[in-house]
Formats: sequence, structure tokens, C-alpha cells
Amino acid sequence: MRTVYLDNNATTAVAPEVLEAMLPFYTEMYGNPSSMHTFGGQVTAHIDKAREKCAALIGAKRASDIVFTSGGTEGDNASIMGTLLAYPEKKHIVTSAVEHPAVRSLCQSLAKRGYEVTEVGVDEMGRLDVAELERAIRVDTAIVSIMWANNETGVIFPIEKIASICVAKGVPFHTDAVQAVGKVPINVTEVPVDFLSVSSHKLHGPKGIGFLYIKRGAKFNPFVIGGHQERGKRGGTENVPAIVGMGKACELAMQHMDEENTRVKAMRDRLEAGILSSITNARVHGDTTSRLPNTTNIGFEYIEGEAILLLMNEHGICASSGSACTSGSLEPSHVLRAMKIPFTRAHGSIRFSLSIYNTDADIDYTLEKLPAIMERLRSISPFKP
Ligand SMILES: *Cc1c(COP(=O)(O)O)cnc(C)c1O
Repeated sequence: MRTVYLDNNATTAVAPEVLEAMLPFYTEMYGNPSSMHTFGGQVTAHIDKAREKCAALIGAKRASDIVFTSGGTEGDNASIMGTLLAYPEKKHIVTSAVEHPAVRSLCQSLAKRGYEVTEVGVDEMGRLDVAELERAIRVDTAIVSIMWANNETGVIFPIEKIASICVAKGVPFHTDAVQAVGKVPINVTEVPVDFLSVSSHKLHGPKGIGFLYIKRGAKFNPFVIGGHQERGKRGGTENVPAIVGMGKACELAMQHMDEENTRVKAMRDRLEAGILSSITNARVHGDTTSRLPNTTNIGFEYIEGEAILLLMNEHGICASSGSACTSGSLEPSHVLRAMKIPFTRAHGSIRFSLSIYNTDADIDYTLEKLPAIMERLRSISPFKP
């Protein structure tokens, strides 16, 4: 059966070029970069090259500001925990109500361990209230953590504005840029963030690897403590094949940024318009004027999202209801709840997220199958629009 993969905000296919770049590091070049012998030491040059490619993707001038992590979750945790450890007297955190669980669940857990957390809300279009954020910052605020773009709706936050507020208030600022990198231009030289976390598997790199940008001078205590790797900022033997693969993925992402914003965006727009015109009582969730080019979150009134996913799955169409982390529970996702989307629509919301590997034929196929799926589900729904 054919697979139409429209779940790229959950994870992406590894680019063939990435796999090819990784393979030698699983076979002949398996040395430990910390070793004294040439066999291990030769690997270091490849790590350095990957670090430069990661830095280039986010406009970081110094590759030494890049620390390799195990992924987006660790980058988020390390930024927040590393800052809290560096400012032990500060016990307040400002974040948003729509963060990924890697930030939100951590903050909720910290709230049970003596920290105070302010969650800034969003409006019904998923837009952050920047004035509320500014008011939330206090003298004892240790860190502000706001994502660059939301994984469920694709809504892009005004990070430049938030960063300058944090600079003015003298508070460290972390942004989870996992969904934004490779899709929208990011330049940490122009936007003064202190910490920015990235995950490789969201941009056609391998899973279990990511990087954290730490601005030079930002106070940070290591979160993963061990050997002297990563200039003492993150212990653990480098995941060399994954680091090299991520470097290649970053290089490709720079080359594909235009395509994301033209061809991918056009496919997303056609999918969205096609759904809205062929299916009644469907609405797009999130601010369409400030949104990632690959994402659309659509609510189908009076249908269960899980049922939609199951029927789409029968046709090989992959998407998500809410976020992968919230599916499986009957509560609508925290993002849609924060947006105050009516429950009858939030329950029937589906996130379609595209990539450069999608084709027009994928969109044709999806638009051909969806109306019948919705009709079938609506005919058995006890509720009628
Ligand atoms: C996927 C994702 C993460 C987690 O990244 P992992 O590499 O899977 O740990 C964090 N934040 C956002 C916004 C994400 O989409």
C-alpha cells in the first residue's frame, strides 16, 4: 500500500545524503575523538566540520557556541536546568502555555520543587501575548523560555521582540527552535537569544541527536556532567555518526529553505484550501499570517480526531491529532485548550505537516480520500453540526 507521510513535525525521513555521510563512522572510522592516537583523533576534524554546519544554519558566528546534545528534549532541559543551576537565588521561570512537553512538563515538575512558573497565554489564533510576557518578568526571574514556532499549529512567535525584552530586563532567554530551523531563517547574530535548541530528526537527520546554541558569556552550569567533551559543557562520548549526519542535514536544510517556503508551502496551501472547500464545518487553527510553511492544523467539527487518523491510516495517510505526546488521551491537546478552541472542534483536529519529500500526487491522493472519510464519520456521529 502507498504511504503518504504528512507527519513531518513528529519526525522526518533521513535524507539519503545524510545516511551516506554517517555510514563510514559506523564502519572504518569508529575511533573515539578523545583518544591520543591518530585513529581516534582523525574523527575530531569531522565533528568540527559538523559543528560549523550547525552554526551556519542558525547564523552563529562561532562554532564553539554549539554544544551537541541527544536531541531537542535535552537541549530544552539543559538550557533551563543549566541556567537555574547558574542562578541558584532565582526561583521564577517565565514560559508559555503552548510549549512542547520538553519545556512544559519540566517547568511543571520544577513548580513542585520550589520554583514558581508563570505560563503566558495565547489568544484564539495561538498568538502569544507579548505585553503579558513583559509584565511577567520579575527581578527573581531566572529564565524566559518561549518556543520559536509551535509544533502543533505552526504558529511563529515574535522571537526578536521577546529577545529584546529579555535583553532590556537582563534575563536569560531560551528558545526551543526545533520546529523553526530549516523552515524559516534564523540568525542568532541578529536575534539576541542566549540559548536555542535544535533537534536533528525534525530536519531529515538521525534521531537521538541535536544541538544547543549557547551564546558566549551566558551563564550556564553543565546539565549532563561527565568527561571534558564539548568544552566541559556536556559530558559523554560524542555520538560521532549522528553528529556527522546532523551536520549534513543542516547543510541540506540551508539549501532547501527556499523550497520549503515555495513548493512545500504551495502544497500545504493547496491541501488546506482543498480540505476547506470539500469538507463542511472545518476550520484552520492558528494564525495563518505567521505560520511555518509546512504545517496546517484543521479542526473538523463533531468528529473524533482518533477516528479520522484510523481511517486515514487505512489509506496509508499519516498525520497527527494534536501532538504525538498528547494522542492516546481523550483530552484535547494543551495547545488547543490554551487557544480556547471549542471542544467539539478541538477533539476533531488533525495536524498535517509536510516536507520536501512530499509530492503533488500526495496532496491529490489525500484530497481524494478525505471527503469520504469525513462523510462516513459524520454519518455515524451522534452530534450534528
Ligand atoms: C520534537 C520536538 C522536541 C523534542 O525533540 P527530540 O529531539 O524528539 O527530543 C522539542 N520541541 C519541539 C517543538 C519539538 O517539536
